[in-house]
Parts: sequence; structure tokens; C-alpha cells
Amino acid sequence: MGSVSPDAVNRYLKQTRELYGDELFLESNPVSEKKDLQTIHLEFSTELDSFHQQIHECQKCRLGQSRTNFVFGVGDPNASLVLVGEAPGEQEDLKGEPFVGRAGQLLDKILAAIDRSREKDVYICNVLKCRPPQNRDPLADEVEQCEPYLIHQINLIQPKLIVALGRVAGKTLLNVDNSLKSMRGILHNYHNTPLIVTYHPAALLRNPNWKPEAWKDFKWIRSMIDA
Ligand code: SF4
Repeated sequence: MGSVSPDAVNRYLKQTRELYGDELFLESNPVSEKKDLQTIHLEFSTELDSFHQQIHECQKCRLGQSRTNFVFGVGDPNASLVLVGEAPGEQEDLKGEPFVGRAGQLLDKILAAIDRSREKDVYICNVLKCRPPQNRDPLADEVEQCEPYLIHQINLIQPKLIVALGRVAGKTLLNVDNSLKSMRGILHNYHNTPLIVTYHPAALLRNPNWKPEAWKDFKWIRSMIDA
């Protein structure tokens, strides 16, 4: 890049002031605004609890205005397995905890069947930390604002495996628009951590016929984290 003399800069500013007045408008560059991973990790606290405190009043997207509670995540900070849903639902928003209610109870049973629990070797969270109105799917700009928090959580926990619960969580984390069927049964990668996509427990409550397939996934998950 060639150098620009101070005189040229002064001339440019003088002309700009004559044309537009005292306010100087700079063009924003969306590419440079998108943070790289290193910047994300440097910006945030290195302990999970203090990271929670750091971001719990976040208002970076519209959902900060409508939430009842910020839903950070629960579980073992040294877990081998991180389970990720798309966003808090009504019960989660009211309690401030992910995967509560009937779907949460089913998830707890599934975890018990692989000899795990919320307190033991598992961490549970969502891509978005605040509930979208009427449980609609996360919007792209909400994911863009909130996903760095998830990436940093995972970086602090350092799990062996991430499991995306449901199609929306899977396609959001993998940045694709695929069916659940086409994402299941494949070992994906999310920022250098292996990732598996399986059914959301709420879907298993609606369609109990899917439970045997989900159990196949969880046997595979168990073999991955026990290895
Ligand atoms: S959804 Fe995420 S980015 Fe939006 S306000 Fe909540 S914590 Fe912040």
C-alpha cells in the first residue's frame, strides 16, 4: 500500500468538511467485524463461572429485550460430552436452565442409560442463550451474535464430543440446511471438536417410534466418550 502525505489527508478532510459538515462517516466492513476465534477467546473470561457473569446481561440482539432469564448452561465444567440445543423454550426461559420440563426429564433418562447425568461428565447448553418468541427458530443475525459465546464455552470445557440435539441445532452448528436424517450417523467437526447430530428429546416425545434410532445414536455417543 502506498503512503499518503499529511497534506493530502488534510486536503481530503477539508473538502469532506465543506461538503458534509463536522461529522465524519466511516464505511463499516462486515468482514472485519466478524471476529476470528482467537479474538473471541481473548475477549472473554477463562473460567466458566466468571464467563457466565461476564455475559449474563447481554443485549447484543433483540432477544435480550424479550427474555425472562438468560440461559447460560448447566453441568460439569470438565465434561467429556457437551449437548447443545437450539435455544431455550418457555420452561427454560422461566427457570434459567436448559432442557427442563418433559423433554428435559427424557434427556435425563437417556443420560442415565449411558451412565451419565447433568452433574457427571455432561454439560448442557444452547446455541442461543435467550428464548426466541413463540419458540421460533433462531434467526441468522441472532446466531451470529450469540454463537461466539458457545464457541468460548466449548473452548473452556474442552469436551471429547459435542452432540447437537435436533435438526435446528445441527444445521445451525454445521451451517448447512440439511435434514436430520442426512446429518445423523456422521462424525462432523465443530471448531476442531467431533460433533454428532441426533434427535431432540421433544421430538422423541412426539414420535416414540424414533426412540430405537436415538438409542443407536446414544450407544455410539457412549462408545466415543468412553474410548
Ligand atoms: S440471544 Fe445471545 S446475543 Fe442475543 S441477547 Fe441473548 S445472549 Fe445476547
